[in-house]
Amino acid sequence: MNEIVLKGIPASSGIAYGPAFILDKGEFIVPERVILEHEVDSEIARFEQAVNDTRHEIYFLKEKIKQDLGEKQAQIFDAYLLVLDDPALFEQVDQGIRQNKNAAEYIFLKVIKQHAQSFSKIKDEYLRERAGDLNDIAQRVLKHLMDESKLHDLDNLQDDLVIVAHNLSPSDAVSLYNKKIIAFVTDIGGPTSHTAIIAKSLGVPAVVGLKDSTLRITNDDYLIIDGQKGLVIIHPTQHTKEFYSKEHSQIRASLRRLEELKGLPAQTIDGKKIALLMNIGLANEVPSVKKFGAEGVGLYRTEFLYMNRLDLPTEEEQYQAYRQAVEVVSPYPVTIRTLDLGGDKFISSVQIPKEMSPFIFKTQLRAILRASAHGRVQLMYPMISGIGELRRANAILNEVKNNLHQEKIPFDSKIKVGVMMEVPSAVMTAEVLAKESDFFSIGTNDLIQYTLAVERVNEKTAHLYDPAHPAILRMIQKTVDAAHSEGIQVGVCGEMASDPTMALLLIGLRVDELSMSSSSILAIKKMVRSLRFSDIQSICQEAMQLTTGQEIQEFVLLQMQKLGVQ
Ligand code: PEP
Ligand code: MG
Repeated sequence: MNEIVLKGIPASSGIAYGPAFILDKGEFIVPERVILEHEVDSEIARFEQAVNDTRHEIYFLKEKIKQDLGEKQAQIFDAYLLVLDDPALFEQVDQGIRQNKNAAEYIFLKVIKQHAQSFSKIKDEYLRERAGDLNDIAQRVLKHLMDESKLHDLDNLQDDLVIVAHNLSPSDAVSLYNKKIIAFVTDIGGPTSHTAIIAKSLGVPAVVGLKDSTLRITNDDYLIIDGQKGLVIIHPTQHTKEFYSKEHSQIRASLRRLEELKGLPAQTIDGKKIALLMNIGLANEVPSVKKFGAEGVGLYRTEFLYMNRLDLPTEEEQYQAYRQAVEVVSPYPVTIRTLDLGGDKFISSVQIPKEMSPFIFKTQLRAILRASAHGRVQLMYPMISGIGELRRANAILNEVKNNLHQEKIPFDSKIKVGVMMEVPSAVMTAEVLAKESDFFSIGTNDLIQYTLAVERVNEKTAHLYDPAHPAILRMIQKTVDAAHSEGIQVGVCGEMASDPTMALLLIGLRVDELSMSSSSILAIKKMVRSLRFSDIQSICQEAMQLTTGQEIQEFVLLQMQKLGVQ
């Protein structure tokens, strides 16, 4: 087999090699497959056979449901059978195969999609929902038409696999937390998508935005993943394997050298201390905070507590989770961000009615406040767009504090309350927000996407996602100035903080703390310890005079090389 090299977007560095595991969550990906004239009749016969097999399967299922749950529940399958018996469906598929000379599964899916589209336009809600039934039927028929080895579920994963997926939602990523995944490869996604964040916290390489890797890679294909360059190599030659084996040993050796920095302070040669903190999402990441020498948690992403479940976490459950983190990380602070449901962080299973939001928010605030009795907790609101929102959130916080006080439940009454600066309107009004905040934390992942109008999860525009853009650096400068003139601290908890070149600029812009995934902490500490603060400041001042992100990146890299920092 020939070696194939796919190029994507680097999302988490490192090298891994092992067998591929295609994760497609039970949905078939159907590539276009051309057939020859003499194959037409057998292709149509194959389709008819698949429909017949599906029909038998549904009869069987219907009988079983009738026995287990009753006649009424079984009736839903009559609608399925009606679709399978529809002569129009047969006619369209038959014609499509004859005219276009494409494989049955490809034509069938096209026809079903047209039907589903007309269903979805119907005003009647009941009928509209039947579009979902159509998808279910389609998957059942496809199962008989296609290679079933393409279907797997998350629970039966083997160890040491490279996960190859079209997309990885935050909730998929959570289900993979306890598995021994050695790398992630996805068709879609940008450099700060959740796949990237999860891969970094697991310390494994990831390449995203490969467009069609799930069509090119098959289960058990041997892969090499180069997370630094964003390469995925299918069936590598002996020569490539040897090359990467050497690279891997070098990376391991430099990681071992980094380990020696664990107990040392993050301090420049001329004595300027920089606080390096860790971003966490799940409880099992908590022990890494001290292991990697982080000075606390700069961002606790609480969304993960709400994922992969049908109910909401109770106050007690959240309190226990936060308390555990606070006790382990003590005496350092844990910055807990309230639930951030924006953009790509949807919760798949919990359908939250709008009127429930204040209740969910109050429950979470109670849990966070209760945890604050056990160590240093800081509270942080995401996606604040202006002072009105901050005041409304604080009004609810005060109400919750009063209730706890009346119930004689202990909490830290002086708990620090900060704002995430990740919406351009917040940055533009930073002076106003600074007066009523205890600290700022800049969420560059979102700030970049909303300032540059470039979606952070979209591989098609990833080349425009530019952390070094002069507009971004000026916004950070403005935020820092506003914070410092009110005497409050400002950190950065977006992915920008974990890139040594960008971290240098952030330190030069006088950001007080940087928070990042565990796997980046030591590399950033190394950069900090190799430079003088005075040099960092002059590099930053010169960089701020340049006019494009590319010029800035190149300039900073060159200066770092000159000063002997790799
Ligand atoms: C950010 O937006 O930079 C951030 C840190 O938060 P998240 O990635 O969870 O949106
Ligand atoms: Mg954000």
